[in-house]
Amino acid sequence: MTDGPRGIGEIASYHAHVYYDPATSRGEAERLRTWMGERFLVTLGRWHDVKVGPHDQAMYQVAFAAELFPTLVPWLMLNHGSLSILVHPNTTNPRRDHRDDPLWIGMPLAVHADKLPEEAEMEQAPAPNTSPTLRP
Ligand code: ZN
Repeated sequence: MTDGPRGIGEIASYHAHVYYDPATSRGEAERLRTWMGERFLVTLGRWHDVKVGPHDQAMYQVAFAAELFPTLVPWLMLNHGSLSILVHPNTTNPRRDHRDDPLWIGMPLAVHADKLPEEAEMEQAPAPNTSPTLRP
């Protein structure tokens, strides 16, 4: 009855999922990955050339701290090229994070959110695995 808005304290971290077509746009995805690694302190996940989990296309994940959102997300808007990118918050509800609350850069794709739980531990950003030397 007295529900107010949700607070941003619910967001432990973010993911960006960079989708590509292994036959036609893997090179572009590789270039974007290199550029990101040179510019942002993030965790670049491994390549999934076949669909995994809720994802409807090949992709890799980029995990990042909430503080990076105001630089990384606009930079992806400018540099995604032909690639589709799903940016979602990590709260305690992965299904809602992916299905109801994400934003898309580029063309939106299907997300099979029914494969995700409605309750999970908050996912803090993991230790970054990049060593950026350039400014975004
Ligand atoms: Zn994710």
